[in-house]
Amino acid sequence: MIIDTHCHLDFPDFKDDLDNVIDNAKKNNVQYLINVASSLEGCYNGKELSSKYENVFYTLGIHPHDAKDVTTADYNKIKELLKDKKKIVAIGEIGLDYFRNLSPKKEQKEVFVKFLHMGKLSELPLVVHTRDSLDDTIEIMKNELGNNINAVIHCFSGGKDFLRTVLDMSMYVSFTCNVTYKKAEPLRDVLKYVPMDRLMLETDAPFLAPQALRGKRNEPANLVHLVAFLSELLKISQEEIESRTTENAIRFFGMNKRVNSSS
Ligand SMILES: [Zn+2]
Ligand SMILES: [Zn+2]
Repeated sequence: MIIDTHCHLDFPDFKDDLDNVIDNAKKNNVQYLINVASSLEGCYNGKELSSKYENVFYTLGIHPHDAKDVTTADYNKIKELLKDKKKIVAIGEIGLDYFRNLSPKKEQKEVFVKFLHMGKLSELPLVVHTRDSLDDTIEIMKNELGNNINAVIHCFSGGKDFLRTVLDMSMYVSFTCNVTYKKAEPLRDVLKYVPMDRLMLETDAPFLAPQALRGKRNEPANLVHLVAFLSELLKISQEEIESRTTENAIRFFGMNKRVNSSS
C-alpha cells in the first residue's frame, strides 16, 4: 500500500471526475490520500472531502503565495476547524516561496511564524513548502521551534547541505514525480543520501506529472511511476519502497490509530 502524502484534490482540475480519480488511486494501491490545504477555502474543502471519502485525510494551512491576504479572522476560522481533529493530520502547506514571490517576504514570514505556533499548540506535524528560501525557512523554524521539529519538507528541491540540515533537525523529506524529469539529475543525486526512515512520497497533484505523462494533469495513482523509478534509482525493491515510505507516513502523520494497515 502507498500513501499520497500531498495532493490537492480540491483544486478545480478534479471537479468533474474525483470519484474516478480516487477509484483509480485505490486500483493502483494508493490507499490513503492526504489533501493538503493551500488556502482557507482549501481547509474547508479538505474537511468536506474527508467526510465524503473514507480514505482521504486533510491538513489545514495557507500557502505562502497567499500570505498577503491572510487576516486574523482566517486564523480564527482555522482554529475553529481544529476543534474536530478526527481526520486532520497536519498543519500545512505553510512556508516561504521566494521563487514566485506572490506575497512580500515580510508577510510570508509573519504568516509562517503564526502557523508554526499553531502546529505546536495543536500538536500536529508541519508540511513545509520552501522554494528559493531555504536559509530563511531554517532560520525561522529554529528561532520559533528549536532544533528538533516534527515537519516534512515537501517537494524537496534543495542540495546535500540543506538535506543534512533538515535531517539533523529530525525532519522528514518528501519527493514528487519531478525527480523523474530529464533535468532533475542534481535532485536524483541528493535522493541517494536520504535515509529510508525519513523518506515520504507525494504527487502534489494536479501538478508535476511524471516524465512519461508530462504536460498532463497529475493524480495520486501516478505514484506507481514514482515507486518504480525510485526502485531503479536506489536499487531497492518496489515492495520495500512502498512499505518503508508508508510506515514513515503513518508514523509522521500519526495515522496509526486511524488507518487499517492490513487493508
Ligand atoms: Zn508546495
Ligand atoms: Zn502542494
